[in-house]
Parts: sequence; structure tokens; C-alpha cells
Amino acid sequence: MRLGLAANKLHHNEENAALFRWLRACESSIRELDLGLHAVGRTHDAIAAAGMLRGHAGLKRYPYGRDGGLMKLVAEVVGMPGDERTLDGAIYFIDPVDPSSIFPEAIALKRQCVIHAKPFISTVASARDFIEVERIHAGLAPDRGADALHALESQTLALIAHDAMKPAMLAFAAENFDVLSRFAQRIGTGTTSQRLNEMAWSRGWPQGTPWVARYLSGPMGGDAQIADLVLERRCQRAIFFEDPHVARQHEADIQLLERAVTTVTDEAVCITSPAVAKRWADAVRLRTK
Ligand code: PGA
Repeated sequence: MRLGLAANKLHHNEENAALFRWLRACESSIRELDLGLHAVGRTHDAIAAAGMLRGHAGLKRYPYGRDGGLMKLVAEVVGMPGDERTLDGAIYFIDPVDPSSIFPEAIALKRQCVIHAKPFISTVASARDFIEVERIHAGLAPDRGADALHALESQTLALIAHDAMKPAMLAFAAENFDVLSRFAQRIGTGTTSQRLNEMAWSRGWPQGTPWVARYLSGPMGGDAQIADLVLERRCQRAIFFEDPHVARQHEADIQLLERAVTTVTDEAVCITSPAVAKRWADAVRLRTK
């Protein structure tokens, strides 16, 4: 497996920056999984300067951002025909107030990951979660350092799906009702919640008790309400199935929620597509066994 890797300056400019918090937690797993990391220039150089991943053949250097490094990652997430240049997803540690985090290539990286059902990992918590999911699927022993991420009973989960993705959300939630019901609380935007509650009631969840606590509809501000809970560290995971193929009147609100998640990079996990969500839910079940 090969992932693109980039980090905004804040996240690699000192010893305790996000990139290094992640590497310290996951370096041995990265080696065990033989994970390829195709890193944009400055991010690569910071890793090398810190003496991390030394001798790891999977660490590859790409050009600096200014020379197109991030743009190349986007093309490789899509896949370049006829050669080996295809990535399985991307890790991009975002500092939401760094202007480069909203450059077109940064937005496109996320969008093409979503379109191609590949993981887009933008926070330290998401990157740690991803590595643990891959450990479990590879049959490796659980990393006890990831136990907190799996303490679902003390966490709040947000569920959001754009209209074209609502059937996929309902199918995902029905198939993984056991896993999602373990969370202390589920919250969601208006219409998504309504549909999920109807599904839960049809499966015997107590009538009149919402399975998902309902916030406003996305276009009416539900994303902003959920973003506030994320910022308050009262929501630890978001499963957000967005529709990348339509113009969205509340684009700003969608971005706001994603930026809130990256603001609390060590605490919040975001999962952006049904395929990635399924892989996570399967790992949760395996890890509990
Ligand atoms: P909805 O909001 O669940 O109310 O449809 C989701 C969205 O469109 O952002």
C-alpha cells in the first residue's frame, strides 16, 4: 500500500509537530506494514532531518509544493495509466489557517480521494486510526496505544450524507448497526438523522427514542452546529459521505466542518467514503473479538 504524504508547515516545523507525533506513535507499524509514503519535498526533508523512518525503502521524495509535489500526488491518487504511479490514498496534515491548505491542489487531493473511494486522512487521530485499521486487517496484534480510538462507548459519532449518498449511508448504518450502536451518542444533520432513525426504528430500536440526535439540515447550518461540538471535543468521529459531483449551495459550511476537524487534529477522526467506512467498521469488529 502506498499513500501520498504532505503536511502544512505548522505540522512539521518542530520536534513535537503533528507529523512527528504521528510518526512516533506509528513508525514501527509503518515498517511492519511496509507502508509506502510518497512525501512532498519539505515534508520528506523534515522526516529525514528528524532521523525518522531511516532506511525505510517505502519513503519516497516528491518535489516541493512550489514545484508541483502536491499536484503530482493528486494525479497519482487518480492513477496514471500505463505505469506504476498509483497511490492508495493520501495523508495531508492540514493546518486550516495555512493559506496553502486551500490551494486548488489541496482541495483536489481530497476530492479525488473521495471520488476514487480512497482514504483521505487529514488529522493525527485519523492517521493513527488508519494505521490501526490496517494492522488489524493484516492480522497483526492490536496496538494498545490505539485503545483510546476504539473506546467507542465514551465517544460521540457524527453521521452526515449528502442527498446522492443517503442510500449508501443507510446501507452502511444498517450493515454496521452493532458497531455504530456502541457509541455513547450519535448525532447527524437533519435529513440524514431522520432517515437513519426510521431505519433504526424499523430494526427494533425503541420507538420514539432517536438513534441519532438530530441537528439542523446541512444547508440550514447543521454542519456548523456539528463543527462546534467537534471544536469543543464533544464529537470524536465524523462519517461524512459527501457528494463530490454536484455544486453545493452550502459549500462553505461543508468546508467549515472539515476545517473544524483539522483544528483538533489529535482528537477528531473523519471518514469520507463508504469503502473506507466499511474497512474501519470491519476492523472494529475484528479488534473486539
Ligand atoms: P441533511 O444535511 O442531512 O439535512 O440532508 C446534509 C447536507 O446536505 O449537508
